[in-house]
Amino acid sequence: MNWLNITKIKTAISMTLALLAYFNAEIAWANSQAHNDSSPANILIKVEKSTADTSEKWVVTYTLTTPAKTLAFVRNPDTSRTTRWFAQDNDIEIIFDDTKHQELVRSKSGKPLSTVSFFLTPTYKHLGKDYAPFSPFSDGGNAFHSGRLFACANTCTEEDNKWHLTLNVPSDEHILLNGKVMKSSVSWTDNNDGRVVYVGKQQPIITDDVVALIDPGLPESIKASLEEDIPNMMAFFSHSLNPLKGEKPMLFASYANVDDHSTQGGTLPNQIFMHWNRQDLNEQAKNSSFVNQTLWFFAHEVAHLYQPGSTEGVSENEDQSWLHEGNADYFAAIAMNFLYEDANSYVESRMTRAFESCTEGLAQTTLARAYKNGHFNLYYSCGMIMHRAIDSVVQQKTLGEESLFTVWKRLQKAVNNGMPPGTATFLTLLEPYNAPELIKAINNATSDHAFKAIQGIETLYQLPG
Ligand SMILES: [Zn+2]
Repeated sequence: MNWLNITKIKTAISMTLALLAYFNAEIAWANSQAHNDSSPANILIKVEKSTADTSEKWVVTYTLTTPAKTLAFVRNPDTSRTTRWFAQDNDIEIIFDDTKHQELVRSKSGKPLSTVSFFLTPTYKHLGKDYAPFSPFSDGGNAFHSGRLFACANTCTEEDNKWHLTLNVPSDEHILLNGKVMKSSVSWTDNNDGRVVYVGKQQPIITDDVVALIDPGLPESIKASLEEDIPNMMAFFSHSLNPLKGEKPMLFASYANVDDHSTQGGTLPNQIFMHWNRQDLNEQAKNSSFVNQTLWFFAHEVAHLYQPGSTEGVSENEDQSWLHEGNADYFAAIAMNFLYEDANSYVESRMTRAFESCTEGLAQTTLARAYKNGHFNLYYSCGMIMHRAIDSVVQQKTLGEESLFTVWKRLQKAVNNGMPPGTATFLTLLEPYNAPELIKAINNATSDHAFKAIQGIETLYQLPG
């Protein structure tokens, strides 16, 4: 893209103060590493959507080739299957096993399970650390997360990572799977975190950059932004990092238009999705801070698509989420500054707020434990300050020849060449810049001592000084 001139990127960000609200939730694939893809296919998962009268019915059926005592799920973020999944057979129930912290399907009379079916509740349900099972569109369409359905006989192990799914839909609707529109019935194999699949009547918008399903009920300004800003952001990251390989990414933007205040965004390999579960978007779309917040949200999600090793993950585990979340937020800041001149003060205020909320948070928990302690936001705020410092130092040490983008391109290469994802590999890539102060501050920021951690972030905030 000729119009992109990378030297225009402004990374020096000064501070003003403003309060801003984070989106309720945002999730990315990067927390998961690829498992072995070697599981025996002993369970078939069939999903069926039907429409009777005006209501939609979703049924999931598990067929086990070898009967089992229980059925366990791969993903257990909460207990909501026990209240939102309804067994078709009275003898079958879903219970929450407190000791294992997971939901289990079992027979009340103790019969072995061979075929079990459940009616699903196809409304939006916020899951704290997982993808929403359903993201309804305002015109009756719906997108579901296949990973929610992954289940194993008796217990799931690391080796269970191959899922055979079949989806059947009514004749007047279609399926959007992997960027392709299909009718009536489709079967596919999933692994890792699964994917989002659309069922409904809306035809996707297919452009050079993306296959998009944008809710027709969204306010015009948000629809226009999704159609124009996301391709611009993709062009920006494609130029700054590496162009995406393989199939066109898919974008899902759904609007349930219901009485709630939830918004969720996320990414899976080659997929970005955003869901608004609220009813005030027409009003909000006129508010400039909401508009900036939405653009930031888009930029953050688009940045994830371009992070390295999209299927293998960037960070080794949840504790290292500052790496992919902080980076996505900092890249969002750079993209915002580059693409929207009048967003500069918004970006500045957001940076200040990140520093403040990071230091406040580190007084309560460490970065490594933030995940377990419900302070996931620290990965965004502290992580953004950390990446901003790395960018400044790299630019200073190389007299502007290199930047954080260079480091991330190298990370991409390293991970593709078999280096493990995670902070150890990332920090190795910083060594050639001969910036011991930077490395020390990063180590402090991620340490278990609150005082050291805060001091580390303060140093990083001031770097290169
Ligand atoms: Zn993210």
